[in-house]
Amino acid sequence: MEFDFLGIPVIDGHIHFASPEHMGDILKIMDAVPFTKVNLVSVPFPGTLNQNAALIYFKALAPDKVYLSGGLDYSQVLVDKVQPGQDWGTIDWTAVDAEAMSTTLARQIDVLKWMGFDGLKLIEGKPTFRKQVPIPLDAPHYEGLWAALERHDMPVIFHVADPEEDWDEAHASPWAKERGWFYGDGTFPTKEALYAEVDHVLARHPTLKLVLAHFYFLSADLGRAAAFLDRHPSVCFDLTPGNEMISNFTRNYDSAKRFFIDYGDRLVYGTDIATWGLSRPEGMEHALGTAWAVRMYLEKDTFFEPPEALVNWREPDLTGFRGFGLPPDVLARIYHGNFERLFGETPAALNRDAAIGELARMASQIDRLSSGEDHGNPAREVLRALQGM
Ligand SMILES: [Zn+2]
Repeated sequence: MEFDFLGIPVIDGHIHFASPEHMGDILKIMDAVPFTKVNLVSVPFPGTLNQNAALIYFKALAPDKVYLSGGLDYSQVLVDKVQPGQDWGTIDWTAVDAEAMSTTLARQIDVLKWMGFDGLKLIEGKPTFRKQVPIPLDAPHYEGLWAALERHDMPVIFHVADPEEDWDEAHASPWAKERGWFYGDGTFPTKEALYAEVDHVLARHPTLKLVLAHFYFLSADLGRAAAFLDRHPSVCFDLTPGNEMISNFTRNYDSAKRFFIDYGDRLVYGTDIATWGLSRPEGMEHALGTAWAVRMYLEKDTFFEPPEALVNWREPDLTGFRGFGLPPDVLARIYHGNFERLFGETPAALNRDAAIGELARMASQIDRLSSGEDHGNPAREVLRALQGM
């Protein structure tokens, strides 16, 4: 696996950064690929609220290297409706007032913006998350959020749906089933229902800068992908693979390559590298392999095998992947131009005082919700680090 690629700057638009201890690993990956900058994302997590504290830490130490896309804090929505250690799936969400939730989430966007976050990350459209927080994306509960994002012109890395196979008992991969990503038992919303919710949101908020992750899981239906992008000029797809994604592009090679050239200003490079994966022995190999494979299929007009750590990417009917070998001007847009148009040419400056105030609030909230199960208090750790800098 050699990183022998064109010298075009590359920004990774989608890296999950959960813990300051992995900052060195991310910097190592940035050197190897290389990435000039990366967008760190955070998602809601019971107990520690989200990973926003880790994101703040990285930006405090390396302000020019990272954009931050924060996660929402549902503890502020739930207030006294959640007990320490309680699984969100067991909460009575019907008791959550729509207007109060809407106002609270809108306020969180104001706070993220004020602290110097560049965007928002939403995993709220992933079926497993939806079971935890069973509120439709187009419900009045989220109305204030969409309005605030539009008002701040703040981009969103947004995970909606999953590969269609995951709803289909016969075709769901054993790999996905093992992770609890099988949605065909009638207790999850359908893929189409999730898409309809996004359509409703965009009808009401047509200038939302959504970056729909994993090609919006439409890699098997490029006609539909094109029609969707035509209908929604402010929306982009990110190219973080989806296990199925590169296989689908290889199967429809000519039309996929055409799509990438025609819609080259609507696609954003990304890997979905996650720092929790880096603790596994094959973690670094998996991360670098992902970065390499995504560059390979964009940049080289050649057949290639996915790296060892990613063997399950190649679906059994294929002998290998075939790269597009896209022209340099298209690559430049996908690698950095589109991201910079959405997020700005340089990351926003961190507002340390604002961040310290928010970290203190988060730290005491984490104390309140702690169940003794040890996730520690990442907000307090980062708060102390920031105060010592
Ligand atoms: Zn992700």
